[in-house]
Amino acid sequence: MLPEVSSLWLLQLLRDIQLAQFYRPILEELNVTRPEHFNFVRPEDLDGIGMGRPAQRRLAEALKRHRSGLKSKNWVYKILGGFAAEQETTPPSDSLPCLLEAEGGHKCLIPEGAVRRGELLGSGCFGVVHRGLWVLPSGQSLPVAVKSLRVGPKGPVGTELGDFLREVSVMMNLEHPHVLRLHGLVLGQPLQMVMELAPLGSLHARLTAPAPTPPLPVSLLCLFLRQLAGAMAYMGARGLVHRDLATRNLLLATPRTIKVADFGLVRPLTGARGRYVMGGPRPIPYAWCAPESLRQGAFSSASDVWMFGVTLWEMFSGGEEPWAGVPPYLILQRLEKDHARLPRPPLCSRALYALALRCWAPHPADRPGFSHLEGLLQEAQPPEGRCVRDVKEPGSLRMEVGDPITVIEGSPSSHSPDSTTWKGQNGQTLKVGSFPASAVTLADWPATRPVHRGSPARGERNRGINDGDRTKVKLQDLPPAWYQRRNMPLPKMKGISKSLESVLSLGPRLTGGGSSPPELRHARAVPEGPPFLPPREPFASSSPSQVSQPPRERPPWPKREPPPSHPMGAPGASKATGPSGGFLPDPELQRRVMEVELSVHGVTHQECQAALRATGGDVVSAIRNLKVDQLFHLSSRSRADCWRILEHYQWDLSAASRYVLARH
Ligand code: AMP
Repeated sequence: MLPEVSSLWLLQLLRDIQLAQFYRPILEELNVTRPEHFNFVRPEDLDGIGMGRPAQRRLAEALKRHRSGLKSKNWVYKILGGFAAEQETTPPSDSLPCLLEAEGGHKCLIPEGAVRRGELLGSGCFGVVHRGLWVLPSGQSLPVAVKSLRVGPKGPVGTELGDFLREVSVMMNLEHPHVLRLHGLVLGQPLQMVMELAPLGSLHARLTAPAPTPPLPVSLLCLFLRQLAGAMAYMGARGLVHRDLATRNLLLATPRTIKVADFGLVRPLTGARGRYVMGGPRPIPYAWCAPESLRQGAFSSASDVWMFGVTLWEMFSGGEEPWAGVPPYLILQRLEKDHARLPRPPLCSRALYALALRCWAPHPADRPGFSHLEGLLQEAQPPEGRCVRDVKEPGSLRMEVGDPITVIEGSPSSHSPDSTTWKGQNGQTLKVGSFPASAVTLADWPATRPVHRGSPARGERNRGINDGDRTKVKLQDLPPAWYQRRNMPLPKMKGISKSLESVLSLGPRLTGGGSSPPELRHARAVPEGPPFLPPREPFASSSPSQVSQPPRERPPWPKREPPPSHPMGAPGASKATGPSGGFLPDPELQRRVMEVELSVHGVTHQECQAALRATGGDVVSAIRNLKVDQLFHLSSRSRADCWRILEHYQWDLSAASRYVLARH
């Protein structure tokens, strides 16, 4: 008689310990059909079927192994039920075929021995990724990436395991040319995901690669944006929200192909509103997040669109960190109260920036959907042309006849007297600069495709769209601070997204309404203090009563700056008196405002203008005052203390912020 399917486990177990001869007696005389039935079997019972004590010990050991194996597999089986299964359950006997048959048999369970791991490619929040080689049943080998679940001394940690399994569960069902493909799963120790290899690494690494690696052409960045929008439209159509869109999670499969990766934070959209609301304290990539995500933990396709805008910004700013140096809770304040937005990167055309601003519309409903974005990106694509005469004049972008040129700014129909000068990128040298428009003919220049494009949605006119005057500044006019920042090493980028706490956890509660759910109030950690904290507290608050003060309204400026002849106006006061207030010629004021804006992340245009007016146009003093202002609002220190702390940290606002937060 053939063994029954339901008791095959017993036969297998007994075979493994060379006790298969006891299969029938255990099954028929002791009525054991499931592992837990052994709980009721006494040694005498086993004696009764003729099993000696050493054999009984072997059986007990094997049962122990079997149970722990089942337990460790239980969480594996959870993935097979997708997102829903949360409780530990006995694996359904038909679970494995689910995985084997997913997507027409393409994804599979891979035997442990079929995958060889090689060099380390990177590490994420719940695992490490190695290059690997997968030997297929046909004998063919395929280069792959293998993500292994990080296992602590006591096994996998709760959330890491959940995220890992969720990622498998999501990837199992995705097939898109710009979504990283899951080949299969190795049910070994540790658990491993076998994925398509993206041999060129992350887009962020490429964007920040030091010289001599050339920058990426603007036209290629636009192609990547279209690929990303397509992949995200696909995910949205499947009812999924990614929640961690950023250049670090875009992998380069070929020099011209990106793939969306890292699905650990993906969640299904639920309910009529198509949202996912966080149910517990988890790290979120706050600088990429939409206001509703920061405030309420709410994510949707529209919040992914917001992140798309930040990703666009990263691409065009050479992988810079968005809102660098701005403490988490201030980001939300900047976004909501000041309507601040990330500034237009010099490589980004006005049309594309206008698109980013649409993605950053305050109301989720006002943001374009991903499928709409695909079309909008097509329209906003900077025009391509060819150089028709050599340009060698000093100060101009050098180009030779035939060089492909991407026009970033300028328009044949512009009313500006500058219309004869365009800004663009030479596709041959990848250098960016201004050049006489007459040196380039555009490939296709229909009147319907102007360089300036894009109409702002509601709420976008606050700031970025007023960018017109600022964008007249030529690239070579940009303040040195910009270049310095671009060449800066970016140690602070490390782990910015995946390990940082939610935005409300690090600072005083925001005023202005809205209650935040507990997960956003949860404070798990404050940023680390600077490595060389002074032995004594050199920045003791000048008045003990100030220590516990709540965030205050902006009081008047404290000490030596501004000069008495330029009293500091309230932010926005400049609106009433015109942009320059008459103390500087407008172009010069704009240049200085830009310099201040670029040096103090997250401040508004109006704040920069006001700060400059208050210091009589002195850029350095304006920058310092704004930094003191930022620190003052972040902490419970007096302005004088903030000044001293900033001075101590050589005006590095981010280091000073870390210091005060660590002592909050
Ligand atoms: P993750 O855990 O998904 O954030 O991955 C961590 C890092 O490993 C990424 O930043 C990439 O540099 C690298 N990586 C992840 N997946 C792949 C892949 N499929 N191909 C190449 N590199 C990868």
